[in-house]
Amino acid sequence: MKSSSTGGLVYSTDGGRMCPECRKPLAQCLCKQAQTIPAGDGVARVSRETKGRGGKSVTVIKGLALDGAALNALGKQLRNACGSGGTVKDGVIEIQGDHCERVMESLQKQGIRAKRAGG
Ligand SMILES: [Zn+2]
Repeated sequence: MKSSSTGGLVYSTDGGRMCPECRKPLAQCLCKQAQTIPAGDGVARVSRETKGRGGKSVTVIKGLALDGAALNALGKQLRNACGSGGTVKDGVIEIQGDHCERVMESLQKQGIRAKRAGG
């Protein structure tokens, strides 16, 4: 493996941060793109996010170490538990409305470790 003369962390001249792995600006980081399904640490993150449109809240569950089918099944269960609609996309479950408490409860009942994240 060749090493560049700069070595170590790389900073672009305009002060933007570069990824030390692929040496691209963080916005174009290839490593990040490869992580569409995060391996995670086995602990799901449950957070409430507000969508731009109309300021509606959604409950977002990230970091689940499940494959697509299992994730879809879990998404369905959570939608039922919350009595709300939602989507499963790119390894992330979204439930419409603020259902963090109920989602946490449902996940824990199924033996899935989860913690609150963000707002
Ligand atoms: Zn990178």
